[in-house]
Amino acid sequence: MKPTVSVLGTGLMGSALVRALLQHRFQVTAWNRTRAKAEPLAADGAKIVDTVAQAIQASDVILMNVSTYDVGTDILRSADMARLLHGKTLIELTSGAPNDARARADWAQAAGISYLDGAILATPDVIGSEGAAIIVAGAQDTFDAAADVLNAMATSQYVGDDIGHAKTLDIAVLSLMWGALFGAVHAAALCRAEGVDLTPVMGLHEATAPVVHGLVGDFLQRNAEARFAQDDKTLASVATHYHALHHLVDVMDARGLDRVVVDGYLALFKKAEDAGQLSADFASMANFLQAST
Ligand code: NAP
Repeated sequence: MKPTVSVLGTGLMGSALVRALLQHRFQVTAWNRTRAKAEPLAADGAKIVDTVAQAIQASDVILMNVSTYDVGTDILRSADMARLLHGKTLIELTSGAPNDARARADWAQAAGISYLDGAILATPDVIGSEGAAIIVAGAQDTFDAAADVLNAMATSQYVGDDIGHAKTLDIAVLSLMWGALFGAVHAAALCRAEGVDLTPVMGLHEATAPVVHGLVGDFLQRNAEARFAQDDKTLASVATHYHALHHLVDVMDARGLDRVVVDGYLALFKKAEDAGQLSADFASMANFLQAST
């Protein structure tokens, strides 16, 4: 028999989660602080309730998707929620840090609540489609029992029983994205300063995408295997990238552009230089972010 599901928080993402669950014929109860935002979901078949307690009492599985963990903590602390959740499954899908997940898991364990912590790697418009992914950490048996609920919303991937790992992987993916976006920030600013039209940059972005993708993949593979020394498979050394970065520094200085981000890159290269590691594979650079280096 399908478990019943309650969703706490029906903002943009929570509403998409509710609709996907309804499409998979789950019985769904929804609560939102601003009830008016939840009400359109009634037309799709959700039962809208006024209180968190009513939502928790209505279902076997409770999904939380609000703006932050602090908001979720306030919601769970606000009444006798631990008692109401006892024996049920709580799935936290709010974005946060690994330690947020660990704190919530400790609270859930003390209250006898089965707990999963997930990260949604999708936007609301693709929830319920094959393009949506959710990564989930927690006990394997809890994940297995909730897999149908999770897969109704997105393709779920179990990432192990360390409860912080879904959030860690989520942030790792965001870091990859921000790397590309902050690269675009610099590309746009320097082209504007040099009077270069961005249209050809868009074409070059497409043309070089496989090269960049390959470099990032090689970097991650080498780090997974701890292969940091230069070898016959090395694509570029630390020194090669360090020298090339100076061309960016030159044009930024010539045009008076702010080096606030690039100075961070230079500082990391300086650590590699001071450690006598300029000839190492560029894959070694993550080592210089560690506290002890
Ligand atoms: P949103 O549309 O702004 O919704 C925020 C939700 O949090 C609403 O239900 C809101 O209730 C609730 N909330 C905020 N403060 C509250 C409070 N003090 N007490 C009770 N409820 C409160 O944001 P969203 O896009 O749905 O995102 C929700 C979560 O999903 C976030 O953690 C976000 O990072 C994550 N996420 C979003 C996306 C995305 O593309 N949108 C993708 C991946 C992950 P009200 O309606 O009453 O304000």
